[in-house]
Amino acid sequence: MSGPQPNRPSDTALAAAAGRELATFSRVLYERGWMPGTSGNLSRRGDGARRDVALITASGLAKGELTADDMVAVHAETGVGLRPGAPRPSAETVIHAAIYQATDAAAVIHVHSPHATAVACRYADRGRPGTLPLERFELLKGLGLADPSRAEVPVFPNWPQVARIADEVAEFLKGADRPPPGLLIADHGITVWGASLAQARDRLECFEAIAQLITLGVPPAGGPAPRSSPALTAPTFPGPARAAAPTSRNGHRHDQHD
Ligand SMILES: [Zn+2]
Repeated sequence: MSGPQPNRPSDTALAAAAGRELATFSRVLYERGWMPGTSGNLSRRGDGARRDVALITASGLAKGELTADDMVAVHAETGVGLRPGAPRPSAETVIHAAIYQATDAAAVIHVHSPHATAVACRYADRGRPGTLPLERFELLKGLGLADPSRAEVPVFPNWPQVARIADEVAEFLKGADRPPPGLLIADHGITVWGASLAQARDRLECFEAIAQLITLGVPPAGGPAPRSSPALTAPTFPGPARAAAPTSRNGHRHDQHD
């Protein structure tokens, strides 16, 4: 069986366009502070007959300064580089490959966004994959879930050997029934996928916003948030009218929801 041949002339323009798209998304996510230093990685799988190839950000480069030339062609489902002498692909390419192998994703984004990372630390189960249960949140509707009222997000240990993380991701996805399009890695960050980079980015924004609510004190699951939650009872806007109204605290919560 002959392997993928990403250097055919007909592929060059497509690869350049995909590379520019990856560079643009990288810069935007970097500017949000979600890819500090050279961290984070993005990939995009080829379309149609080129589904066996993925372009991924090169290792060790600042994500706010990438160009189309900084993307590396790899085999989508193994992560093996396809061009001898090309820059080294992201150290976490094998995690992208595990996702492409088990799902219909066409794009994968991995960042170190602060709230998702904080929640990953909190819900880690040391030494083995854990679970972050999510219920109620309006933004769950932005994740393309089979049941948008709830999700169980896996939380993987941050093994020093990335291949071990990838193996656990592959094992989870193989056995999962319609898993959410994202996973957390304890002490590390979040990886999200979708049918395009734009969809993966949208889903990432929803995950990060839900994680921010959790870091503010909202319980991730188990019915309505308790009114005694310290983060929710603080009189954030004690204006005269609100301070005089006995129900001002609950009213404030509804104001924020909208
Ligand atoms: Zn990372």
